[in-house]
Amino acid sequence: MNDLSKETPKAVNKARAADGRALESSPLRIVRVDAIPVALPLKKAVVMAGERIERSMNLLVRVEAGNGLVGWGEASSAPVMTGDLLPGMVAAVDQRLAPLLLGEDALRRAALIRRFDAALVGNTGAKCAVDMALADLVGRHLGVSVAELFGGPVREELVPMYLLGNPKVEDDIAEAERELAAGWRVFKLKVGFKAPLEEAAAALEVRRCLGDDVVLCADANAGMTFANARLFAERALDARLLFLEQPLGSQDFDGMAALAKVCAIPLNGDESIAGVRDIQTLHRMGAIQGANIKTIKMGGMGPAVDAMTICSALGLHINLACKVAESSIAAAAIAHLGSVAPNLDWGLNVTQHYLAEDLCENALQIENGLLGRPLGPGLGVMVSEERVARFRIP
Ligand SMILES: [Mg+2]
Repeated sequence: MNDLSKETPKAVNKARAADGRALESSPLRIVRVDAIPVALPLKKAVVMAGERIERSMNLLVRVEAGNGLVGWGEASSAPVMTGDLLPGMVAAVDQRLAPLLLGEDALRRAALIRRFDAALVGNTGAKCAVDMALADLVGRHLGVSVAELFGGPVREELVPMYLLGNPKVEDDIAEAERELAAGWRVFKLKVGFKAPLEEAAAALEVRRCLGDDVVLCADANAGMTFANARLFAERALDARLLFLEQPLGSQDFDGMAALAKVCAIPLNGDESIAGVRDIQTLHRMGAIQGANIKTIKMGGMGPAVDAMTICSALGLHINLACKVAESSIAAAAIAHLGSVAPNLDWGLNVTQHYLAEDLCENALQIENGLLGRPLGPGLGVMVSEERVARFRIP
C-alpha cells in the first residue's frame, strides 16, 4: 500500500509532481494506491488448452484521491497469456507504478500512464488495473461514464458470448441449450485439447443441436499443431464457425500466416497479441482476420482503445474479452469499451457470471442474451469492500 492520506496538511501542501510543479490546487490529487490480490472462486471449473481454472487469481487496484473519491481497477493474472503471476503484479504496482502516481493529478491520466512503460517493461496486467482505476476515478470526479471519457458510446446493447468448456460434448450441448433458452445467442467452443476429428465432430453436433440462428466460434488457446488445425478447420466447415481463435502457439506468426492461406475459417489472434505492434505485424503477414483485445494484454483501457482504432483502420474484426474470470469491475470496463468500439462484429466476452460471487453490489446482468453497460459515473459499478476483504489473499 502506498499512502499519502495520513500526511499533515502542511506536508500535503508541499507535494510536488515529478516535474516540480506544485500540486496544491490539483482537484484530483492521488493520495493512496492499494494493490489488492484476491482469489475468486468459479461456480465450476473451466477447462481449456493448457489451463484448468477453479479460482481466478486477480489483482484489484484501489486509487484514492484527496477529495475522498475512489477508483477501482481489475486484472486477472494470466501465466500462460501475459506471463503475469499475482505476486508479481502486486509488486509491480507497489514498487514501480504507485510511486509514479502519488501526489499527482489524476486528471492528467494520459501523461501518467505514459510513464509506466518507461518505468517497467511488460507487466500489462498490473498496468491495466491501474489504468482502469484511474479512468474510474476521473469519470466519478467528472460525473461521466468511462465510455464518455473515451468519446461516448456508439451502441448501448452488447451481445456477449457464452463460453462452453465442458470435457464432454453432450454436457456442452445441454448447457448451450439451457443458455439458448435464457436468451444467449453466441457461443464459443473451447478446442485444442482433444483429437481434431473429435473436436470437429463436436462442433458439427453443437451446430446441429442449436440450429442455424446461433453464432458459433471456437478458441484453441494455442493448443493445436498446424496439421491438426488444418484438419479441424476442414472437417468443422459445416459448423459455420465465425472464427477460429489462436489455433497455433503464441509466437508462431509464420504458422498462423501459412494456416490462414489454407483455412476456410477466419483466424482470430489472441495469445499472439501482446500489444498494438503484434496486431500490425500479424495483419501485415496475413495471419489474422480479427483480433481478440483484452485490457490485461494491452495494459489498460486507453491502450485497448488504441488497439481498436488500429484494428478498424486495418479492416480487422474486433473481439473484446475479459479473461476467465474477472468480476464486474473488469466486465464494466469491457462493456464501456464495447460501447465505444468502432466495430464489434466478432463480439464480446465477459466472465463475471462464471464467478460464485461478484465483487460488486450491482453486478452486471445479462438479460435475454444482452448486456448493457452500467450507466453511473466512472465504471458505474459499486465495489463491496466487505467482499474484497473476504476474498483478499493474506
Ligand atoms: Mg482466447
